[in-house]
Amino acid sequence: MRVVKSVKEVRDAVKEWKAQGLSVGFVPTMGYLHEGHESLIKKAVKDNDRVVVSIFVNPMQFGPTEDLDKYPRDLERDSKLCENAGANLIFHPEKEEMYFEDFSSYVDINGLSDELCGKSRPIHFRGVCTVVTKLFNIVNPDRAYFGEKDAQQLAIIRRFVRDLNIDIEIIGCPIIREEDGLAKSSRNTYLSKEERQAALILSQSLNLAKDAINSGERNSSVVIDIISNSIKKEPLAKIDYIEVVDSLSMKPVKTIEKSVLVAIAVYIGKTRLIDNFTFNI
Ligand code: AMP
Repeated sequence: MRVVKSVKEVRDAVKEWKAQGLSVGFVPTMGYLHEGHESLIKKAVKDNDRVVVSIFVNPMQFGPTEDLDKYPRDLERDSKLCENAGANLIFHPEKEEMYFEDFSSYVDINGLSDELCGKSRPIHFRGVCTVVTKLFNIVNPDRAYFGEKDAQQLAIIRRFVRDLNIDIEIIGCPIIREEDGLAKSSRNTYLSKEERQAALILSQSLNLAKDAINSGERNSSVVIDIISNSIKKEPLAKIDYIEVVDSLSMKPVKTIEKSVLVAIAVYIGKTRLIDNFTFNI
C-alpha cells in the first residue's frame, strides 16, 4: 500500500489501474480511523479491484469556533488500519495541495443542507460538498463509500451526485457501534471517562424512540418528547437538535407515514455527538 500526497500521484495510479480494466473504490475520511471507517474500506475492497482512502481534515467544513486544530491525527496508525483492511493507496494531501491561495469555487446544495446539522453548522455542508467533489475529480472512482452515521451528509452527496450527473455509484454503509451502543466516532476521543459514560444517552434514547415507533407510535412530537425526556435526565448532556425528518428531503414530518430519519445531535460537555436511525415503512 502506498501513501501519496499529490493529486498527480493519485491520478497516475488510478489511470494505470483503469488502463488495466480494474475497478476503483474510494473511501473519503478525515483520519483517526476506527472500525466505522474500516467497515467502509472492507466493503470497498470486497466490491472493487483497487481501493483509495483519502485522509484529509478539510478546513473548509469547520466553522471558526469548531475543533479543526484539535481534530485527532495519527497517520501511522491509520496507514496500518488501511493496509490491514486491504486498501491500495492513501491520499494524504496538505491543505495547500487542495486549496490554492485564491481558491474561489464552491459546490453548494440548497434545502437539504439547511436542516439538522446545517442549522448549527451553517457552512459545513458547502465545505463537505466542495471537498468531496474535488476528491471525486482527483480519484475518479467507480464507487464511493459513506457511513449512515452521517445520514444527512449521505443524503446530500447522493443528491448532488444525481443533480450534477457525476458518474460514481454512492454506497451507504451501516453505523458501527461500540459494544455498549455508542456510535464510533473520531470525536469520542475527546470524551473524559464520565463523559464517555454519559454519551450512552444518545443510543439509549434513540432505542426508546425505535421501540415506540415499532409499537405503532406515528406522531413525531411524541417520539421527539420520548428522546428529549430521556436525554434531559443526563446532566452532562445538552440537546442541539432532535428531529424526525423525511429520509430524502430532510424536512421535518409531523406524522410518520413513510421512510423517516430520526436524528439527534447532543453536546456531551464540549463535544458534539450525532446519532440516528432510519425507520422504513
Ligand atoms: P469522518 O472521518 O468522520 O469524516 O468519516 C469518514 C466516513 O466514515 C464518513 O462517510 C462517515 O459517515 C463514516 N463513518 C464515521 N463513523 C462511522 C461509524 N461509526 N459507522 C459507519 N461509518 C462511519
